[in-house]
Amino acid sequence: MDSPLGHHKGMACIFSVDVEDWFHILGLPSTPDPSQWDSLPSRIEQDFTRLLDLFSETDVKVTCFFLGWVARRFSHLVKEADKRGHEIASHGCSHGLVYEMRRHEFLHDAMESKKILEDIVGRRVVGYRCAGFSVVEETPWFFDALIEAEYGYDSSVFPGARGHGGLKTNQLAPYFVGGDSGGLIEFPITVVKILGTPICFFGGGYLRLFPLFLIEAMTWRVLAERRPVVFYIHPREVDPSHPRLPMSLGRRFKSYVNLRTTEAKIRRLVRRFQMTTFRSFIANDLNRLTGLSPAQATKLGLATGSRDRSVGVKRV
Ligand SMILES: [Zn+2]
Repeated sequence: MDSPLGHHKGMACIFSVDVEDWFHILGLPSTPDPSQWDSLPSRIEQDFTRLLDLFSETDVKVTCFFLGWVARRFSHLVKEADKRGHEIASHGCSHGLVYEMRRHEFLHDAMESKKILEDIVGRRVVGYRCAGFSVVEETPWFFDALIEAEYGYDSSVFPGARGHGGLKTNQLAPYFVGGDSGGLIEFPITVVKILGTPICFFGGGYLRLFPLFLIEAMTWRVLAERRPVVFYIHPREVDPSHPRLPMSLGRRFKSYVNLRTTEAKIRRLVRRFQMTTFRSFIANDLNRLTGLSPAQATKLGLATGSRDRSVGVKRV
């Protein structure tokens, strides 16, 4: 039942933030357990506010995938992001890897984080992204559980190889998953095939590592293929002085390379390309989503009625 979406002109880029703290780096022996989070010196207020100010200054609206722990402890950050017009979405509660969870554990986690956020902002939350893009072939129940938890879209699939997760798929553009009884739209993390290998240039360590001219060139290339570009960043990535977790040299490079230049890079990218939220992207492009009727979209909570034409590429 999968159908490709978004084959049209004036494709937008989507900008997203996974709102979590400096100690939420995954898969290290030193990664703190959730029971320790409350006792660690949080940097999220200053780091996330720095990003919010950057978005205000550049007049950009983004999607914020909040970790349940952040939302619960710093609910004013959720309210502030909402007040500034950004989309509030869920990054789960425990920051656990999907492939290390059972279906019922995952479902509970996804439902709980949704409820925390909805109670804070007082309206429906439809977007989800899991920790570490850890949906894999061994977790076939993933989409079904998200549909059961009443999410309308997801952006957790990484269509290539990576440390944790990664799903082999040829679906590089957004697509509909589900059937008559329900479904959601999947926005895979954007990759470009270089000599047959899918490579990401648009988020996290990839965005910090690759030079700006290359990221821009690859953005043009994806837009020319009539796909949206999904950018993603973490608040710690604009905070060069955040504390470091002990880790191997290789992971240290990946986790902390180019922290000093990332904020300037983001500023340049959001000025150069038209960025929007997942929800606005869906609302604006609804009539182009093959296989999705307005009634279905309403059922999925995706028909927001928002008609802001924030698509296309900025003239510079
Ligand atoms: Zn995360």
